[in-house]
Amino acid sequence: MRDQRTFKRGELEAALKRIDGKGYKAYKDIVGRYGFDQFTLSIDHVQGDPFGSPSRLRVFVPAGTAGFPDACFDSESRVTALRDYLARAFAARAKQLAKPRGTGSSGLLAMDAPGQEILERTAVLASRDGGIEARFVAGLPARGRSVLGREAQQMLLQDVPQLVKDALLAAAHDDARLRDHVTSAEDADALRGQLRARGLAAFVADGAVLPRRSGIDDRPLARGAVAFEAPDSLAVTLDRPNRGAIRGLGVPQGITLIVGGGYHGKSTLLQAIERGVYNHLPGDGREWVVADPAAVKVRAEDGRAVTHVDISPFIQGLPGGRDTRRFASENASGSTSQAANIVEALEAGARVLMMDEDTSATNFMIRDRRMQALIAKDREPITPYIDKVRQLYDDLGVSTTLVIGGSGDYLDKADTVIAMQDFRAHDVTDRAREVVDAHRTERAEEGGDSFGRPGARTLEGTGIAGKGDKPPKIKVPHRKAIGIGQDDLDLGAVEQLVDESQTRAVAEALMRLTDDQGLHGQTVPQLLDALEQEVAARGLDALTRTPRGDLARFRRFELAAALNRLRALKTG
Ligand code: ADP
Ligand code: MG
Repeated sequence: MRDQRTFKRGELEAALKRIDGKGYKAYKDIVGRYGFDQFTLSIDHVQGDPFGSPSRLRVFVPAGTAGFPDACFDSESRVTALRDYLARAFAARAKQLAKPRGTGSSGLLAMDAPGQEILERTAVLASRDGGIEARFVAGLPARGRSVLGREAQQMLLQDVPQLVKDALLAAAHDDARLRDHVTSAEDADALRGQLRARGLAAFVADGAVLPRRSGIDDRPLARGAVAFEAPDSLAVTLDRPNRGAIRGLGVPQGITLIVGGGYHGKSTLLQAIERGVYNHLPGDGREWVVADPAAVKVRAEDGRAVTHVDISPFIQGLPGGRDTRRFASENASGSTSQAANIVEALEAGARVLMMDEDTSATNFMIRDRRMQALIAKDREPITPYIDKVRQLYDDLGVSTTLVIGGSGDYLDKADTVIAMQDFRAHDVTDRAREVVDAHRTERAEEGGDSFGRPGARTLEGTGIAGKGDKPPKIKVPHRKAIGIGQDDLDLGAVEQLVDESQTRAVAEALMRLTDDQGLHGQTVPQLLDALEQEVAARGLDALTRTPRGDLARFRRFELAAALNRLRALKTG
């Protein structure tokens, strides 16, 4: 155990003077806790050299000093949003105060910054009685490998206190903006909470701005966006505790098609709904677009690894007699990967599946009358989704929201049909029924009489191993990739993984599943429950041995997605 004594600020100053000009390792002397006027600074870990990953620091501001209004702590939604707000403020101010102060990362001050979503993050913790804890990194200044003590004094004794004052004290913030942020998240959570009782899979408010600036810029389209407006026949009014009633499109449970011509805004609508499992910051345009928390986007993903998934509801009788009740592949096809993605989502507890024709395998989605005539059923391993979509809802209660502009065969199956035209939504359900009567597809049903019940698999081990005797290492090069042990996971198709900090947290959770033998022998849904409960009770710190400032809350579905892509996963 390290000395838990809190040193005086003056002792940090003296130490920095003493080590000035010495070798970089001398910085190890300043590890410890220091009491400042308004906060405590904890220097937890010092980098090995100016080029290594930067040093890790925390500050603690007592509740009385921070002074955030009691109302910020009235609900879990509000606390999460307060933490998010402070992380944004801290990260932005740190960026301003950072400047080059020597070699490598010298002078860096940074915090893990949120994107458009408001997620629970470990960068800032807050509680009514415990006050505020902020976790950040700093590049301790050096020239070459010699300590620049004077620069370090400026950073740690002047800039850090300034940063705390400007970001972590209530006095620095505009009351109205902060209130807007926390009540907005609370309202969004409340909307999401009303969906199931109202028989809805999702809600898209009037006035919402759905399009984004670009594929790589998640901010709202700056000019020319057509605001969303719900057609009367599908409009519902939900309640927000802080802002009152709001009208919008209620996407019903059951089978909903989004149809319309190319480039008329179909995928944009679905993407906004996908992201509606998370809250968005005020001004995002999607603040009041919410989806069932168990809504999962699935797509085709040829090339992915699949381990022992029962894809038999969709695929049977593959050439070579491969067993599709325990289907495994190092390199799945478009259709088998989409089938596996669906079955895995169901195993993890999905209640709404979302799919887009743009990212689906055609042969998985449809098989029309003519193809049925040309290729007999017993020569086609695939039972297309069109013949399973109804059973999924009737047998398992799982809804589907589907973008499909290219195949009218689906009209037979739909409960609701929404047409996008010039970025405006229309209810064409009645018209679609007329079309169904006027133009019979004459296709044969190929789905049998029930969906089937793929059983939950038991986890025997993740198969994650280090090189030789060494423990496995984790790397998260970007939001859609995890390097873990010998495995490189491609999460490019996991579309609701929206933040690199979520990816890091998912990687830590995979390590937990590797190390914690107590979890082995449980079914996949059981261990997802166990981890979910632990994180709910103890926060994301439950996942790591030492506190980290760069993790964000993930859903069980995204963890399951990563687990399922492990190439050496062992399940029974
Ligand atoms: P579809 O899936 O119907 O082919 P998309 O959803 O991909 O169409 O949208 C086509 C383009 O229109 C995209 O560049 C998108 O950003 C833009 N767009 C979508 N919705 C709107 C809107 N409400 N206002 C303005 N532009 C939009
Ligand atoms: Mg599209």
